[in-house]
Amino acid sequence: MEYDVVIVGGGPAGLACALRLKQLDNDLQVAVIEKASEIGAQILSGAVIEPGPLDELVPGWRDAPPPICVPVTKDEFWLLGPKSRRKLPTPPQQNNHGNFIVSLGATCQWLAGHAEAAGVDIFPGYAASEIHYTPGGDVGGIVIGDMGVGREGQQKDSYVQGIEIHAATTVLAEGCRGHLSKQLIKHFDLDKDSDPQTYAIGLKELWKVQPGKAQPGKVQHSIGWPLDKAIYGGSFVYHLDDDRIAVGFVCGLDYQDPDFMPFEAFQQFKHHPMMRELLDGGEIISSGTRALVEGGYQSLPRVEMPGALLIGDAAGLLNVPKIKGTHQALRSGMLAAEHLHEHGSGTGFNARLRASPVMAELKKVRNIRPGFNKGLWRGLWTAVIETLTGGSLPRTLSNHADYAQLEKRADYQAPDRHWVQRELAPRDRLASVYFATTEHDEDQPVHLQILEPDICTSRCTEEYGNPCTRFCPAAVYEMVEDEGGERLQINSANCVHCKTCDIKDPYQIINWVTPEGGAGPNYQNL
Ligand SMILES: Cc1cc2nc3c(=O)[nH]c(=O)nc-3n(C[C@H](O)[C@H](O)[C@H](O)COP(=O)(O)OP(=O)(O)OC[C@H]3O[C@@H](n4cnc5c(N)ncnc54)[C@H](O)[C@@H]3O)c2cc1C
Ligand code: SF4
Repeated sequence: MEYDVVIVGGGPAGLACALRLKQLDNDLQVAVIEKASEIGAQILSGAVIEPGPLDELVPGWRDAPPPICVPVTKDEFWLLGPKSRRKLPTPPQQNNHGNFIVSLGATCQWLAGHAEAAGVDIFPGYAASEIHYTPGGDVGGIVIGDMGVGREGQQKDSYVQGIEIHAATTVLAEGCRGHLSKQLIKHFDLDKDSDPQTYAIGLKELWKVQPGKAQPGKVQHSIGWPLDKAIYGGSFVYHLDDDRIAVGFVCGLDYQDPDFMPFEAFQQFKHHPMMRELLDGGEIISSGTRALVEGGYQSLPRVEMPGALLIGDAAGLLNVPKIKGTHQALRSGMLAAEHLHEHGSGTGFNARLRASPVMAELKKVRNIRPGFNKGLWRGLWTAVIETLTGGSLPRTLSNHADYAQLEKRADYQAPDRHWVQRELAPRDRLASVYFATTEHDEDQPVHLQILEPDICTSRCTEEYGNPCTRFCPAAVYEMVEDEGGERLQINSANCVHCKTCDIKDPYQIINWVTPEGGAGPNYQNL
């Protein structure tokens, strides 16, 4: 198949790029490839969004908004202790006046409707599994993964060979830690002049609470308990309509404690008295996990290579102090479309993005996240200084690779975090996976490749106690004992495609690749 532009990923960045291209030139042939069974089914976000870029992309959208869209009415920012809470002034970056609380999954479905109406070809249920290179070595498109391949690589009755989609330009909009984006960054050495990229893990549940408890439009954030001062992170609680509340927790993946479990930290947060009050008597509708990209300005790779571009979270454009990346994804998608329309290729897009408001926004806040590398109080102090000076101080703090921050068990003593006995659902990670409605045909090649399996049962067990069995939010990794001795069992069917293992594994030997198209979580309104 031939297209002028093929876009990998039907999130806000990819859809904005596709729609803008058709708005600018209706004759262009544009395709969007999405691995989820339907658009939005693997999107997980807060999400409070800034509406500016949407006003530009879909004028008049406020008259026919996405299905879940609640104007923000109030911001609260809390410092939590195990039983205490203290209201702090809301940081300016988290002032959400004029913003909207949405389900980003539902918003993407809505946006896909606009893109299809404009003539974009959207293919959900197909994973872009490989890059197609031209004989000259440029990116010339993508290859859709084969369907109907058995666990040992054999062709099943249902076998269908994946097709190649050739395009003058390939736009990578895979979101955080994209599988093809990772390969291309390495292949073209796109990050040679930037700091290592850094990440967080974000866990979220959508709850239906007892009538009267939700206050539509209220936005709450917290820092402090259940994390200790060395771990960056905090919570978000967004009150929707119809007695629904989005509850989530974000932990920086630069944590040092090899025994730390982000899933457990999230569940603990729900047991703070402030949250218990809200959730008691309610029920979970949907849950899931996704990594966030945190490196910002100093970690931004070159976003242009021969035949291809990176946009949105695949490039790393999220604004951490705001905990917002949707407006940046939309803006970068539109900018890429405008650039392709004007120049006929991506050449010059790197400079254009860096000179745009997208990058100016990241530059202003570039020192806030790395300021927390020395703990909560130093981080808050840096945040105050950087906010007061608008990021104009002539210094740029460095980012360091997350996996390299993990301490060995022998060298680390975890503090008492005063965690409590839990009672609220879900009981454990497997019960949580149930609410992600994740599905993978068990008879397909394992999409979590362990590059050096011997390390798992030797050095990793000894040095870190197999942290993958704890940081994975879906209990995919398990150490089991059988007649052959101890081995790592990979329950790949549970995977929710969050990419945490690919990022945090201390030896960098876990490689997440795309499973069959359509496999993975089927989130409802996350
Ligand atoms: C817990 C959490 C809370 C957040 N809160 C907010 C918030 O309140 N406000 C805000 O503005 N932002 C928030 N963000 C960030 C925001 O969600 C992202 O910045 C935004 O979704 C990035 O858009 P994107 O299009 O670049 O990537 P994504 O939204 O991640 O979309 C990428 C799409 O590509 C698909 N895909 C990936 N690889 C392939 C492949 N190889 N083949 C086919 N399809 C593929 C994925 O399935 C997905 O649909 C939050 C993020 C998280 C994780
Ligand atoms: S296996 Fe990896 S990508 Fe899948 S849920 Fe676990 S940590 Fe996330």
